Amino acid sequence: MTNGTRLRALPKAELHLHFEGTARAARWRARQEGRPLPEWESHARAVQAMAGKPLDRLRALLQPIEQPGEDADPEVFEALVGDLVVGKQDEGVRYLEVKFGPQRAFDDWFLERFRRGCERAAAAGADMRVRPLITLNLTRPEVRASLPELLARLEKLAGEGLAGVDLIPEPYDRPPPLRIVAPALERLALAGLGIAAHAGEVNAATLPAVLDLGLVDRISHGVQAAYDRRLLGRVLESGVTLDICITSNVVLGVVASVREHPVSRLALAGVPFTLGTDNPLLLATDMPRELAAGLEAGLLLGDLRAATLAGADVAFLPSEERAALRERLALEWDAAVWREATAAGVGGAP
Ligand SMILES: [Zn+2]
Repeated sequence: MTNGTRLRALPKAELHLHFEGTARAARWRARQEGRPLPEWESHARAVQAMAGKPLDRLRALLQPIEQPGEDADPEVFEALVGDLVVGKQDEGVRYLEVKFGPQRAFDDWFLERFRRGCERAAAAGADMRVRPLITLNLTRPEVRASLPELLARLEKLAGEGLAGVDLIPEPYDRPPPLRIVAPALERLALAGLGIAAHAGEVNAATLPAVLDLGLVDRISHGVQAAYDRRLLGRVLESGVTLDICITSNVVLGVVASVREHPVSRLALAGVPFTLGTDNPLLLATDMPRELAAGLEAGLLLGDLRAATLAGADVAFLPSEERAALRERLALEWDAAVWREATAAGVGGAP
């Protein structure tokens, strides 16, 4: 059995995935029309070969999905959600959180179509819980201008199945003025939404402000803490979990290579983390590849197991569902490893 097949068989919890609606819709439409599928591998390689800073590379990476796409059509959106979840089943994912852009908050059909997309996938054999999140740029002037309306929408969606929000601070490479967004996040937390934030990705500048908020359960990326002893101490003290995406960090030049990724250093320091794909289409990656990258970066199989269970511990789910998910992941993980060991004749099993 190849390493890829082995890693595919392991159960996974993925908490850091952006929907990439425009790219997903373009691929779906090409498939519908029997045209060759858009090829993102060379896009990812071109971004990786760029000379710019990580933030410039990030802009270049996301450029193909800057314009709204066909995913704004409810029918197409539903099909895309179904497609995504079926694909994730194939990768071994058992719990998935999907981050949608802020414009979805104003689409009346958003959660209903999301649910129907998940039902389509379930009918096709997908056996996982899927939860929707919305990303927010709360420091952007145009967002602040319509903040009361946005918060009211999000509070309503919280009652209808939205699991959480993910704050994307702006600026993203300098200390952002996050104190002004604290009251809004407090309101959303009170409405029952989980709060995540992107920080510590392209550099460390956003991390102190996000940690100062004291409202964030999880940090998307956060890997820059590995290079700063004081920040690492603050991350540990805060108890936040980092949702780490190794391929993304390599393509954007946050780290020079998979081998030099600091994820094993973070594991050794005791920082809880999960592994995710970030923008799997544009980065041409998937969860088995991220687990393989984790091993290449120095993680042990036990670290991958811990990262998987951490996904259950910090999932934006009611606490009883978290406990059941943890149990499921642990049982399935150990069963998969046991099957592998007995197939290889290790352990003296019959
Ligand atoms: Zn992200």
